[in-house]
Amino acid sequence: MSDCLFCKIVRKEIPARIVDEDADTLTFEDINPQAPVHLLVVPKKHIATGNDVGPEDEALVGKLFRAGARAARAKGVADSGWRGVVNVNRDAFQLVFHLHLHVLGGRSMSWPPG
Ligand code: AMP
Ligand code: ZN
Repeated sequence: MSDCLFCKIVRKEIPARIVDEDADTLTFEDINPQAPVHLLVVPKKHIATGNDVGPEDEALVGKLFRAGARAARAKGVADSGWRGVVNVNRDAFQLVFHLHLHVLGGRSMSWPPG
């Protein structure tokens, strides 16, 4: 989708602080970090929400998770711990409608989340 913010970041039309890239995923720093480590992992394929993951995307979502774990390792929070978050639609406060995995770490998280 050409006017999607994260598609533009994937195409390098908008700058981002990229920390990891492979054939199918891109990981970059969140512009408004909520923790010392706050990364966003996106599939290069445009998928609007977590509701829109199809059977053809099962391997891709596995790659998304593995990219998140790889970036957490690179940022030094794999062992201390990190929180993976996928916000879906209004009640979860999804703001960008391109599937993304938040990777938050570097501080102790509270539970339940807000
Ligand atoms: P969500 O509420 O799950 O849709 O999260 C969207 C996230 O994208 C928020 O944490 C924003 O801070 C982040 N964000 C928005 N624009 C950019 C950008 N240009 N580069 C990096 N992160 C962004
Ligand atoms: Zn997109």
